[in-house]
Amino acid sequence: MHYQDYFKSRLDALRDDGNYRVFADLQRKRGAFPKARHMAKDGAGDVTIWCSNDYLGMGQHPDVLAAMHNAIDTVGAGAGGTRNISGTTHDHVLLEGELADLHGKEAALLFTSGYVSNWAALGTLASQIPGCIVFSDALNHASMIEGIRHSKAARVIWKHNDLADLEAKLAAADPDAPKLIAFESVYSMDGDIAPIKEICDLADKYNAMTYLDEVHAVGLYGPRGAGVAEREGLMDRLTVIEGTLGKAFGVMGGYIAASAELCDFVRSFASGFIFTTALPPAVAAGARASVQHLKRSNAERECQKERVAKVRAGLDKMGIPHIDNPSHIIPVMVGDPVKCKFISDTLMRDYGIYIQPINYPTVPKGTERLRITPSPVHSDADIAHLLGALEELWHQCEVARVPQAAQ
Ligand SMILES: *Cc1c(COP(=O)(O)O)cnc(C)c1O
Repeated sequence: MHYQDYFKSRLDALRDDGNYRVFADLQRKRGAFPKARHMAKDGAGDVTIWCSNDYLGMGQHPDVLAAMHNAIDTVGAGAGGTRNISGTTHDHVLLEGELADLHGKEAALLFTSGYVSNWAALGTLASQIPGCIVFSDALNHASMIEGIRHSKAARVIWKHNDLADLEAKLAAADPDAPKLIAFESVYSMDGDIAPIKEICDLADKYNAMTYLDEVHAVGLYGPRGAGVAEREGLMDRLTVIEGTLGKAFGVMGGYIAASAELCDFVRSFASGFIFTTALPPAVAAGARASVQHLKRSNAERECQKERVAKVRAGLDKMGIPHIDNPSHIIPVMVGDPVKCKFISDTLMRDYGIYIQPINYPTVPKGTERLRITPSPVHSDADIAHLLGALEELWHQCEVARVPQAAQ
């Protein structure tokens, strides 16, 4: 085989389908987020980021930066090993305590990312519990799907957020088989939210464990930022709550929070935990400062809600279609991959606005979109500029609008 030719032909096919991914090369400036510099080949320019998962701007928070600086200055750079071999530092231990407290669980276990936490925890539970059947929501994140697949356990995919389908599938399974229901709270592409209580009711009825990915909710929902399950008073009903430290918490890392036995079980059997170097202590210290801040401060959450409502109201006024969901994610629907990419490119080049186009295979064909995530750090002027730019481009590209009610 001609290896290089093979790589090239596969990449060319991706390009032909319009699915080749291009990264925006951005240079953030401390304290100025959501402003950044776009380091384009044809000249750098200032842009406003409208699609970040640093949902509250915590990646710039003075407490977080101070904690990271302090940790580097006191303990140095890397952890120096896996958690088993010399890599457990006091910052990891403190952060796990903070996360267990956040979710009202006995224990928490840290991983190097949310992806790894899902892959390792689901993979371990499903493979190490004999005969386990995993009931997986059809729109679960790739990290959950890969973990379940890797476990080689039996898996049953239920229709997205569909309780009747989930119940039918639970009822059809061997009543004595161990069961695990895996789902998310906020789904990141449509911004819809799972019926967590009803899923827990079904889990009780069929004696199943529950595994909830709150990656797009931690920091953002609930009085202490523990997620949708906290807001709805349901944390104690979930077997495992999984989260990331890389999105609303603004740093990096992933975790599960659960019973002491379950965390110890995953700690003891998960290859993806045991055989990889622990997070740098400074990352753990920064994440802990972020979690602590958002436990006691509601200001960022309140401001984000207000910013999201303001953007939605502006889009409604112009008849620009967006999915009406109960979350902070605003999917603006373009419904055409070429126009979606064109609008995104033009926003960046002519308006200094960065919104990554979301095309197939991330979302189904025909539902191509711009996923907008307003945050407390977007000003009124930023919002006015965004809405003005979208108005012009919707006109120029003749993208469908929502029919306006007769005046
Ligand atoms: C981003 C994401 C993850 C992975 O978290 P990282 O910390 O970015 O690795 C897991 N689940 C969902 C739903 C996500 O969107």
